[in-house]
Amino acid sequence: TRQNDDDAESGRVRVAVRLRPKNADDLISDADYFDCVELQPELKRLKLKKNNWSSESYRFDEVFTEAASQMRVYEAVAKPVVEGVLNGYNGTIMAYGQTGTGKTFTLGKLGKDDASERGIMVRALEDIISGASPAYDSVEISYLQIYMESVQDLLAPEKVNIPIVEDPKNGEVSVPGAAVVKIRNVDHFLHLLQIGEANRHAANTKMNTESSRSHAILMVSFRRSVQDKEESSQGKGDRSAIVGGHVIPTVRKSKLLIVDLAGSERLDKSGSEGHMVEETKFINLSLSSLGKCINALAENSPHIPTRDSKLTRLLRDSFGGSARTSLIVTIGPSSRHYSETSSTIMFGQRAM
Ligand code: ADP
Ligand code: MG
Repeated sequence: TRQNDDDAESGRVRVAVRLRPKNADDLISDADYFDCVELQPELKRLKLKKNNWSSESYRFDEVFTEAASQMRVYEAVAKPVVEGVLNGYNGTIMAYGQTGTGKTFTLGKLGKDDASERGIMVRALEDIISGASPAYDSVEISYLQIYMESVQDLLAPEKVNIPIVEDPKNGEVSVPGAAVVKIRNVDHFLHLLQIGEANRHAANTKMNTESSRSHAILMVSFRRSVQDKEESSQGKGDRSAIVGGHVIPTVRKSKLLIVDLAGSERLDKSGSEGHMVEETKFINLSLSSLGKCINALAENSPHIPTRDSKLTRLLRDSFGGSARTSLIVTIGPSSRHYSETSSTIMFGQRAM
């Protein structure tokens, strides 16, 4: 259901592409490889070159070169979603791409030594905390990982297989079994992210896998007590009641999901066997079901098929409808990874 057709940002997915700077691998001179990506950020265009005589051109909502700062990426892609959350709308920010192309850099970078390096998670929390009025508002987080269709708690790693619950009355999705921590300030949040990161590393070592094989999801719940009759009519989901001429204060809730997706590289490249094949099946399942949902959103379909994976069930009330969604696809520059880069770009294109 579209509750706010007047809100131009709602419903559709904003899609940005971000090119990672060259790394040591890309710089090894090798006659077989060349720079296969050419960007025209002012035209929001990307050219992908297969070879000297064949290339394709694509348009995105935003195109970020390797020189784009973390701040620019945040302002262009994440800020509109965060503003929606402060106004009572749910939102999702996701990064999709091959392992090593900058998903975690873009979303999860802590920037402890250099605040200009901070990624979207920290910047979003900074804005949400500073937009909150402490007397009425609260900011809480859960930090989860989905690995092989099991939801795990990165803040309380003993919790695994946590159920995702959907309220039959209002469709609200929650993970009641996961730890919820009320955020006091940005340092407190940085500390929690670090704990989550350490737990993710430990859990993955124990499961004998890599963090690129799971999805990491930061869930930020924002609650605002709406005291004022006038303000309470602006957002969705308000349940203010006027009883005997008095406005009963109500709580407006919104939710932001920031999703660092599993690496999108395909089975054939990882040369996998046994356990890896099982992992890959689950990754393919969730990324392809995410792709279907995103396509359905792009086509304005009334039915978004979110039932097929844990990932999309978790996202169910945070994209489509009145929610705002941004997708950042991350790519590398070298033709060494031409086919992965091409399929990442196609994933992004299908969302538009
Ligand atoms: P992913 O999470 O997609 O596997 P990472 O975020 O871990 O990839 O990035 C791989 C490496 O490239 C890291 O060392 C990271 O710091 C670096 N990197 C990625 N994107 C950028 C960028 N835009 N600017 C500078 N370094 C980057
Ligand atoms: Mg990563």
